[in-house]
Amino acid sequence: MHDFSFKRGKLYCENVSVASLAKKHGSPLYVYSHTTLTRNFEQLDDALSPVDHLVCYSPKANSNLAVLRTLANAGSGFDIVSGGELRRVIAAGGDPSKCVFAGVGKSEEEIELALKKGIYAFNAESEPELIRINKVARLLKKKAPIAVRVNPNVDAKTHAKITTGTYDNKFGIAFEEIEGVYERTAKLKHLHLRGLQMHIGSQLTEIGPFEKAANKIVPLAKRLAEKHGIEFFSIGGGVGIAYESALESGDAKWWRSPKRKNVLTPAKYAAKLVPLLKPLGLRILVEPGRFIAGNAGILITRVEYVKQTGVKNFVIVDAAMNDLARPALYDSFHEIVPLTRKAGDHRKKNQISSDVVGPICESGDYFCKNRPLPKVGEGDYLALLSAGAYGFVMASNYNVRPFPAEVLVKGSQAEVVRKRQPIKQLWASESVPKWLE
Ligand SMILES: *Cc1c(COP(=O)(O)O)cnc(C)c1O
Repeated sequence: MHDFSFKRGKLYCENVSVASLAKKHGSPLYVYSHTTLTRNFEQLDDALSPVDHLVCYSPKANSNLAVLRTLANAGSGFDIVSGGELRRVIAAGGDPSKCVFAGVGKSEEEIELALKKGIYAFNAESEPELIRINKVARLLKKKAPIAVRVNPNVDAKTHAKITTGTYDNKFGIAFEEIEGVYERTAKLKHLHLRGLQMHIGSQLTEIGPFEKAANKIVPLAKRLAEKHGIEFFSIGGGVGIAYESALESGDAKWWRSPKRKNVLTPAKYAAKLVPLLKPLGLRILVEPGRFIAGNAGILITRVEYVKQTGVKNFVIVDAAMNDLARPALYDSFHEIVPLTRKAGDHRKKNQISSDVVGPICESGDYFCKNRPLPKVGEGDYLALLSAGAYGFVMASNYNVRPFPAEVLVKGSQAEVVRKRQPIKQLWASESVPKWLE
């Protein structure tokens, strides 16, 4: 469920016409819905209400200050993966005592920062890291709260690049070794064993792998609670969203893909997991990124040219893989719709099999291939749907292209929450040595 829909043939984000935003702010442009962000958070929060829990949004999916503030206001904690993210969360008004810190490569500076700010727990991913956290905590005369990330060796059955819970992945410590690690960690005087964490992957569209991992890890969490007094178990993030048929409003049905996938709703997720988790009596953490932000954002782009080669109909747009990397990186599907629908657009005879591509000098710079789309022309705007997660955050300046602007909509209000990057900023921190003059 989200708040992008067609009204009288025009795409709206909540009560704001998306075309009006494109005209005012130019393109490429990310547009986020405050109502969708909040609703997604609340649905998951409510579904977990039978257990003591904390939802920790993953800023790595979308870390715009306004998005973080929206979630902080809703009561969210945060699942950070770098010192930079911690600083961003604090800058946005987030509470460090509701932050958990994941990642396989935490530096001494990052550990020091997190200790000084008083985070809820480090999710440690190796014994050398535990030794390092202990050392930094000793220097600061503190006790660092620790959870260890267990790798349950369960295949999340998602894209290879976002599967994280098998022994082929760099993440966590093997299930069989965890109890030994807790025994040794308990002897490190500047660590306090507070929890256990897992995260098996991203964009999971079925409950099976979560259930399998939880069934395997719950008894371990119970033993660790008895022996080491841990107080929480984090089941990680990974709840998937519908990328296909992302527009649910009745009048957009014709975009529905026949390959429609099951979507994991918070209700389904909680119905299976809560009964497994409740008997533990531990505080349950979840770390959703995509589920909160994915369907809460779209990317607007303008058609520059239509190039018909006899073999292909290329729709060349002003957004590219530097703005939205997912199709190039993961072969991912984003639904593409014009901002204005014309009568008869839904008829096959008015559609044309198209490749929507960006201006970047790489063949991987495409948003879709051979997809039936209504005929569009120069100057028309298109929206790439479900671009709110792993969209802007992965943007780069490749081909010396500035970062796109971002707008947040709430009801009838729309505000630029990140200005389009001024072009000179792209080389502002560079210099030419004297000896080249
Ligand atoms: C990326 C990540 C998440 C969020 O994943 P989503 O699939 O976006 O929910 C949660 N926890 C950890 C440790 C992560 O690395």
